[in-house]
Amino acid sequence: MTPVVALVGRPNVGKSTLFNRLTRTRDALVADFPGLTRDRKYGQAKLGRMEFIVVDTGGIDGSEEGIELHMAEQSLLAIDEADVVLFLVDARAGLTSADIGIANHLRRQKKKVFLVANKVDGLDADSVVGEFYALALGEVYQMAAAHGRGVYGLLEQALTPYLEELQDEESDEDEASDEEAEWDSGWEPEPTEEELAAAEQESLENAVPFADLPIKFAIVGRPNVGKSTLTNRMLGEERVIVFDMPGTTRDSIYIPLERDEQQYIVIDTAGVRKRKKVYETVEKFSVIKTLQAIEDANVVILVIDARDGLSDQDLSLLGFTIQTGRSIVIAVNKWDGLDQDVKDDIKEALERRLGFVDFARIHFISALHGTGVGHLFESIQEAYQSATRRVSTAMVTRIMRMATEDHQPPLVRGRRVKLKYAHAGGYNPPRIIVHGNQVKDLPDSYKRYLINYFRRALKIMGTPIHVEFQEGD
Ligand code: GDP
Ligand code: GDP
Repeated sequence: MTPVVALVGRPNVGKSTLFNRLTRTRDALVADFPGLTRDRKYGQAKLGRMEFIVVDTGGIDGSEEGIELHMAEQSLLAIDEADVVLFLVDARAGLTSADIGIANHLRRQKKKVFLVANKVDGLDADSVVGEFYALALGEVYQMAAAHGRGVYGLLEQALTPYLEELQDEESDEDEASDEEAEWDSGWEPEPTEEELAAAEQESLENAVPFADLPIKFAIVGRPNVGKSTLTNRMLGEERVIVFDMPGTTRDSIYIPLERDEQQYIVIDTAGVRKRKKVYETVEKFSVIKTLQAIEDANVVILVIDARDGLSDQDLSLLGFTIQTGRSIVIAVNKWDGLDQDVKDDIKEALERRLGFVDFARIHFISALHGTGVGHLFESIQEAYQSATRRVSTAMVTRIMRMATEDHQPPLVRGRRVKLKYAHAGGYNPPRIIVHGNQVKDLPDSYKRYLINYFRRALKIMGTPIHVEFQEGD
């Protein structure tokens, strides 16, 4: 389970600044879901092998009333859902009563807290941060988030070791990741003619690994789009055994399912089969639950309500799914009872706006009546097989040569960009690394051409392909 780190503190202490640093240039997923504050932001942070979800809780100062109180409650809920809290205080402003109020709250929640004194730039840090020890939250980490100072120290010395420990406790073994490591280590040299000939023999079907593993798919989407209805449809009437996993209210339920001799695990974010009724959450819909389900899934089914069209929230969830490299199937639900011309309009608008995920299959379904639901399984299988397909260096090099023969790379400043060979860099999602001269000058249009060429030749559907370009051999 991907750990969740919440940034907590009064307004203006530097939470957004730190958030942007942790998630790098990646855009924040701004949660604008009903019942949630507009300014709660979610993003994915990556540090070496460590990945975690960062939540910017928006800010609380302990004196909220009315709508602010509601927002504060949302922040508190985010704290509740987090594994670790980074509690930011402002070294320039010094210790305030609001800081003390927040510290008391955090102590009551018995959360793991790292106390961070931000904005130490230009200050005699050791003397100003001293007073924060009074919060009795242990070490005071010094930081100047705006300048990047202290950020990596905190991550490497405190946060990462702690999160790694958490994960070790959680998972005993993870075979897939071992295999991935092996696959990623080192890359193969330029293929020989024999290897190229061998690639001719290689059929795509033979190259599908993990055929006997269950496919984990998550059904995600905004409230009321029909996730529960679809989950029930896909599960059918069969009796399901719900893994009785210990966990908090934010956890999704994992339900095993077999269909046409393929094993699946449905990650139910809608709470169709609840573990304990008494444990109902305040909000049925949890963004963190959704994001974790996406991270944990092989394939994500994004459910959209045909009557509402594509909303910003749908785009946010899609963006996050692409960021994490997961496979995607889009289900446009409530396709029943619509006039043909309405359907045509919806279809056209969706296909246009979803152009940036042209690798994803779009299904028009009615979860209520069951129409089209069966075909979703075909796309799930296709997407999973695409994501986990092993491609050899010989094969991708051959495809790259075919592509450049069909359509030469352009001239840049009088010299032709030369692509020499490609190698496979892993799967899930498939990665291909192309080596050549002047590759950094390759125009985006040609890169897109190549990516699409690889996609068609390798029959990869439902999953993004990452093609990287490297200068030289
Ligand atoms: P938030 O309300 O907690 O999210 O705070 P912001 O990240 O928006 O930061 C509030 C203000 O503090 C902005 O003007 C930032 O530029 C500034 N700030 C953030 N980090 C630092 C820092 O490390 N040093 C200094 N001097 N200013 C900072
Ligand atoms: P969730 O919040 O995403 O789990 O959504 P639900 O499955 O609870 O569905 C919300 C509402 O939409 C319910 O009233 C459902 O009966 C209705 N609904 C779900 N699927 C369909 C569908 O395919 N067609 C129509 N017309 N209504 C649907």
